Amino acid sequence: MFVGHYSVAFACRTERNKIPLWVLFVAVQFLDYIWATLVLLGIEKLRVIKGFTAGSMLDSYFHPYSHSLITAVIWSVVAAFVSRTVCSRHPFDSAQGRLNHYSKSTPLIIGLAVFSHWILDLVAHPRDLPIYDNAAKVGFGLWNYRDPEFALEIALLAGGIALYLTRNAMPAIRKGAVIAFGIALFIVQIGDTYVPRTPLSDKATAMGVWIFYTLFVIVAFAIEKIGRRGQTNAA
Ligand SMILES: [Zn+2]
Repeated sequence: MFVGHYSVAFACRTERNKIPLWVLFVAVQFLDYIWATLVLLGIEKLRVIKGFTAGSMLDSYFHPYSHSLITAVIWSVVAAFVSRTVCSRHPFDSAQGRLNHYSKSTPLIIGLAVFSHWILDLVAHPRDLPIYDNAAKVGFGLWNYRDPEFALEIALLAGGIALYLTRNAMPAIRKGAVIAFGIALFIVQIGDTYVPRTPLSDKATAMGVWIFYTLFVIVAFAIEKIGRRGQTNAA
């Protein structure tokens, strides 16, 4: 699962909770950030094999710290506590000059967004997701079916963006930017699923994950600034 993860980020953001989209973009890929970091450190192991599954070259044969069910729950709880601490320390939004509207449910939403990664990975991955440690591996293996996996990613993404657009008030220019971002993610997914390429090394792949995911986080941050002045004045 790749861009499908971002559907959860788009779907979680509402006018009521006002959780920044970029924060949710980090949350839904939090487990992969840990994974990529541990692969770079040589702690978790990855093989990149052409044709390993129809839709992915990743053979994640050892990732018990980032992608076991037990650690996924632990990381989700950690993320929820971190967000609770951050929210309580910054009750005042200096950019807007008023009290933050972070609702009490923010830590729960962040925690669930982090955990959603494991659930969506469970659908796509071959049986490489351990329940605990490096044992009892599960995975429904949708990656073995290239077109259905691609269709699911895009359907999820489109649904998430549709929810984001209907549940958040924003100027037309930002609406256009969000749709353009969605199209960009769609193209990235086409490239990932269908464009043949020579496999990179494990470390280069992990580095690519860091670079691409962070690029998307920056776009998500920038997009919510578009037309903000006009919106604030109108409010
Ligand atoms: Zn993952």
